[in-house]
Amino acid sequence: MLTCPWEDPSYLIFSSNVPDILYYSHIPAVLVALLLGVFIFLNKKTSATKTLLSLVILFSLYAVFDLVVWASNRGDVVLFLWSLQILIEPFIFFCSLYLMYFFVGYKNISFKTNIISILSIVPFVMLIPTKYSLSGINLMICDANEGLVIIYYSYIVETLLTLWIIALCVKAYKTSQDVIDRKRIKFFGIGMVLFLFAFSWGNIVGSFTEDWTMAQYGLFGMPVFIGFLGYLIVKFKAFDIKLIGAQALVVAQFVLIGSMLFFSKNLTNQILTVITLVITSGAGWFLIKSVKKEIERKEQLQKISDALVIANQRLKELDLTKSEFISIASHQLRTPLTAIKGYISLLLEGSYGTISAPVLDVLNKLYSVNSRLVHLVEDLLNVSRIEAGRIQHSFAPTQLEPIIAELVDMFKPSAKEKNLTLTMKLQKTPLPLITIDPNKIKEVVSNLIDNAVKYTKEGGVTVSLESTTDMARIIVSDTGIGIHEEDKKNLFQKFLRSKETTRMVVSGAGLGLYVGKSFIEAHNGKIWAESDGPDKGSRFIIELPIINPKIHIGTSDQPTTAERV
Ligand code: ADP
Repeated sequence: MLTCPWEDPSYLIFSSNVPDILYYSHIPAVLVALLLGVFIFLNKKTSATKTLLSLVILFSLYAVFDLVVWASNRGDVVLFLWSLQILIEPFIFFCSLYLMYFFVGYKNISFKTNIISILSIVPFVMLIPTKYSLSGINLMICDANEGLVIIYYSYIVETLLTLWIIALCVKAYKTSQDVIDRKRIKFFGIGMVLFLFAFSWGNIVGSFTEDWTMAQYGLFGMPVFIGFLGYLIVKFKAFDIKLIGAQALVVAQFVLIGSMLFFSKNLTNQILTVITLVITSGAGWFLIKSVKKEIERKEQLQKISDALVIANQRLKELDLTKSEFISIASHQLRTPLTAIKGYISLLLEGSYGTISAPVLDVLNKLYSVNSRLVHLVEDLLNVSRIEAGRIQHSFAPTQLEPIIAELVDMFKPSAKEKNLTLTMKLQKTPLPLITIDPNKIKEVVSNLIDNAVKYTKEGGVTVSLESTTDMARIIVSDTGIGIHEEDKKNLFQKFLRSKETTRMVVSGAGLGLYVGKSFIEAHNGKIWAESDGPDKGSRFIIELPIINPKIHIGTSDQPTTAERV
């Protein structure tokens, strides 16, 4: 049994022949790491936390053996524990690799990985008892002679394992779709590499420079990274990283200031240290509390915004389902309604014999109600086409006057029925030809005239046509109920009708203007409403560009620019 020429350490580790920093770096590191490991494991029992606990135990054994190696004056004890340290090192790296596997979601470690692990550990077991590991003790300096073979072999294994861990992390990062998950993987990878670096950095420096005091510093980082990794495993939320930072800072400060108590021999210093410890702990507690509060607020906001995203998505889906439903329902309705309209027309024309006056009256009413229904179904179909972006246009150079005149003629009977005048006003010079889809423009203007007649009790309706060098204008003005200022814009939205209209109890679904706006915008034109207020009449103005390079003659699937409301 070899004995170094210094005193026996008490409890195997306490000796005056070692640097003070040794206790300062090892004991708090082991205690904090063990506490964290057990706490994290109890918090959540998964393969990852079990592996983390194993890692902590291996690290603690390594650090305790290190203490004994430093403090012991017995060569056999030093050689034995130093050898064990050499053996523990690769285990710590393999444990880290397994931890990475579990963290990124692997349930089991593959057979191949296990075999590789065992095969790379075997040389350690075989080399340790030989001269290629520790060949003996130098009694002069009481230090072991470490064989180069084992040193280089461990460096190679450790470097390869670190690269393996990094590759695994990068792969998991790239394949993950979730932003928060990616963040978690990134932090874990960084934490893992720093952990291993803190662990091996001192040893590398020590082996090369023989300055083993330097090796002590790496251990400071170990509990910090263990805590960090554990936090990422058990509870990681988007904003937690700030909290981890604050907590790590406070804990590190507590450990550092607290351990100063063991070093200061003088009472004044000890009292001052205690006061500093109390003040900084109090401040730390407030810091953590305020960070926590801020995080909670942010989390609440995040929750609300996540819920909004989901609700918005759901609304869009519902909107789509509704449009599809309307489209299907309207198609089914249109055919029978058109047939009814046709038969009533035939009856009215006398194709099925003469009809008595009362029946004729009923038939006329039926015809008008049915026409409204056809109109409504047509509007609903248009809405669903607009929303699906399926409106087709047939553009052709068109003279506006005849088609507007035809419409005015068409509405003359209904205006007359309400004792309203319906006149058409033309400018002196004819309008130039403009490229439009005549049927669509007819539909829009027809709705405007229909509305003007519908919403006017006395007076009349005027349809005017004007042109400038680059614009053609169609104006439908009436002396009717007028429009409130705040209603003017809303009228062009789906299903929106003004308060006055609802009071008047006139049929209508509030779709005509919405459809009209979409058609006019597809012509790169504009449509808007003007009114001096309720009961002061209204003017609906359509402006169409005369030269329109974006519009080409022929049929097109012009995408509609109408807003989805
Ligand atoms: P509908 O007339 O079927 O309700 P529209 O989309 O054609 O649907 O019109 C939307 C709303 O615009 C109407 O409900 C009415 O409140 C208002 N409006 C349209 N034209 C006039 C008008 N000439 N005078 C006053 N209000 C009008």
